[in-house]
Amino acid sequence: MYVLSSQCAGQSVMLYDYAGCIHFHSDHSFDGFIPVSDIIRAARKNALDFIMLTDHSSLGAKPMEGWYGNTLLIVGQEISPRFNHYIAFGTSRPVFVEEDAGLLPQSYIDEVKRQGGIGFISHPDHRGAPMFHVKHYPWLDWSVSGFTGMGIWDFMTDWQSSLTGRMKALMSFFFQCSC
Ligand SMILES: [Zn+2]
Repeated sequence: MYVLSSQCAGQSVMLYDYAGCIHFHSDHSFDGFIPVSDIIRAARKNALDFIMLTDHSSLGAKPMEGWYGNTLLIVGQEISPRFNHYIAFGTSRPVFVEEDAGLLPQSYIDEVKRQGGIGFISHPDHRGAPMFHVKHYPWLDWSVSGFTGMGIWDFMTDWQSSLTGRMKALMSFFFQCSC
């Protein structure tokens, strides 16, 4: 993540490069099993500047938000109906949308804003891994407005998309996921 700082046009410009991880789940999430303390330990071991946790519709780790040495933990959430997943930070309450509620994503983009938060369209090109029964979770509604940004690369999405054969999956397990 680059942060640009300039005093005014034509003046000195400073660039800061921060290494971190955005969008992952802990054991506060229905699909996570790693305690936040273990995640923080791993982040510090790898000298990350920041980590931005996004458990599914949960702010259970919010009390742990803060600095751990030189690593900053920011606790957000992922709003995740069947499609149109949205990660949000700075909200005061979890936003839960039933998987098949049929609610337009504009409604939860607006709710995040109403709570004073910011939000990002999540893994918009997610294709899943049909061979391994991993569902696809793309963003489908491009009529929306008011979001802060969008994820343009997602490790899990790319890795799952690469699982096009059993041998590829096996090789990936031994030579990529072990790092
Ligand atoms: Zn998601």
